[in-house]
Amino acid sequence: MGKSFDIGLERLTGIGVPGIGETQEGGVKPPLQDTSADLKIGHYVDASATKGGQAGMVVPQESTFYLETFGCQMNDHDSEKVAGVLLARGYRQVDGPEAAKVILYNTCSIREKAAQKVFSRLGELRPADDQEGKSFNTEDTEKEHRVHRDGRVLEKNHPSLRKIVNAGGGKIIGVLGCVAQQEGEEIFERAPWVSLVCGSASYRKLPQLIAELEAGNRRVTGLDTDTDETFETEITRRDNPWRAYLTIIEGCDKACSYCVVPFTRGPERSRGSASILDEVRRLAEAGYSEVQLLGQTVNSYADPSARKMRFSELLAAVAEVRGIRRVRFTTSHPRDFGKDIVEAIEAHPTICDHVHLPVQSGSTAVLRAMARTYSREEYLEKIALMKAARRPISITTDMIVGFPGETEKDFEETLTLLDEVQYDSVFAFKYSPRPNTPSLKMADAIPEEEKGRRLGILMDRQREIQRVRNEKLVGETFEVLVDGKSRRENQWSGHTSSNRVMNFASPERELLGDYVQVKVVSAMPNSLVGEMVGRM
Ligand code: SAM
Ligand code: SF4
Repeated sequence: MGKSFDIGLERLTGIGVPGIGETQEGGVKPPLQDTSADLKIGHYVDASATKGGQAGMVVPQESTFYLETFGCQMNDHDSEKVAGVLLARGYRQVDGPEAAKVILYNTCSIREKAAQKVFSRLGELRPADDQEGKSFNTEDTEKEHRVHRDGRVLEKNHPSLRKIVNAGGGKIIGVLGCVAQQEGEEIFERAPWVSLVCGSASYRKLPQLIAELEAGNRRVTGLDTDTDETFETEITRRDNPWRAYLTIIEGCDKACSYCVVPFTRGPERSRGSASILDEVRRLAEAGYSEVQLLGQTVNSYADPSARKMRFSELLAAVAEVRGIRRVRFTTSHPRDFGKDIVEAIEAHPTICDHVHLPVQSGSTAVLRAMARTYSREEYLEKIALMKAARRPISITTDMIVGFPGETEKDFEETLTLLDEVQYDSVFAFKYSPRPNTPSLKMADAIPEEEKGRRLGILMDRQREIQRVRNEKLVGETFEVLVDGKSRRENQWSGHTSSNRVMNFASPERELLGDYVQVKVVSAMPNSLVGEMVGRM
């Protein structure tokens, strides 16, 4: 997962890690993964992950799985759990669907395009002799045409997924995550070659569900939403050797009128503070120096144990775990964001100076229609708390343009909010009507073209804000956790505490995973360029 080397200007994400849910379809793209930053990070499996099959369950030797993830950090982390669960039962993960016995897609349905992508992928897997499945809008995957630099058109045959399914026979194809939860057994109707549909709360059951299929069952589902089993996955195969994700609250009770999350991830439930802190200690012992606490509304955390820790107390306790150098948290909901969180950041340098606080719109009228539970003024009060902090806090946000009924004046208020807050990064999306949501029935839909126009204006405005803000940082020195290495000699990348991407030069032979001091020499809207001036 090489990150950064961001030079692209078509996005506004100067700060690397967004909130939850950033597939960016219909919106601003996420930070480009520059292929020149080809850091290879191995897979890190927690403690008991290699302990073979579970008692009573026979795992065939050839049991291999391929897992592809769509969507947000929550999904990335869910996939780490899925991989951990399967590896612990003796399965082996493979890089492509060709070699896999089990093909799994961990899906996202936050915006329509994200969900479509999954069905398009499933369409690619449709067996040639299938007569049942409904029609899919798929591209021809049999041939790939590339124009060579000298003008020749190269035609490359590559194994189409369709061929893979037919040739391989007996493959198990599973849909996990939000689309699974949202569409449920409907998926079997649309794609009869799918045999497993499982939502995020049921991942612990996956080996059992796969075993049922291998024993002859044609179709299996795991679609509970109200369990807290999801926290208790005993093994997680983490993708990154320095940063560990940790879900502390699942689901969402906020019921924003445009959002599918309450339907796909179920009601809010928090994990006990003692269990969280135990895991953080184990992570620190295993060498992780950064933890990121995750939740759709992470700061709505409500400790179910007798200890009743507030979110800010939990943050402080995590920050005090020996060996932990950085604590991040995302995504915060403005309603539950209070002074105590700012005070925790002030008191603990280990807590990163970055808060992702999605606003969605600068217009109180639109916020009401969205059922966001705060007005523009109330949101700005939360921003003022951060601006008054003793150390600078970098603020980022999510915005939706073209919500039903959004007038030119409403949109103008969103633009003035950008000027007023001076965000370091904005994830902006065109409103996407989603099934079951109240906004689906709202009048005055905004045409797609107009949504696109507004998105473009917003991006231009924000890009300029980021350019100016980043240029002010030239000459300053930041601590950077090095997490990427370029193919170009002596070029590295990493993230500051504020989560800015820093590309820098250093002749050192090995820096990955180190904390170093980097002085900024130039700035772009989405990243900083620096030179290393020392180690920490
Ligand atoms: N829980 C977080 C919050 O309340 O801000 C956000 C989680 S959501 C998975 C991530 C972002 O996706 C949201 O902040 C919103 O900007 C965007 N989003 C959600 N539903 C959307 C929709 N129907 N159309 C466009 N964007 C949407
Ligand atoms: Fe969706 Fe709103 Fe919950 Fe965020 S707070 S996950 S936008 S319902």
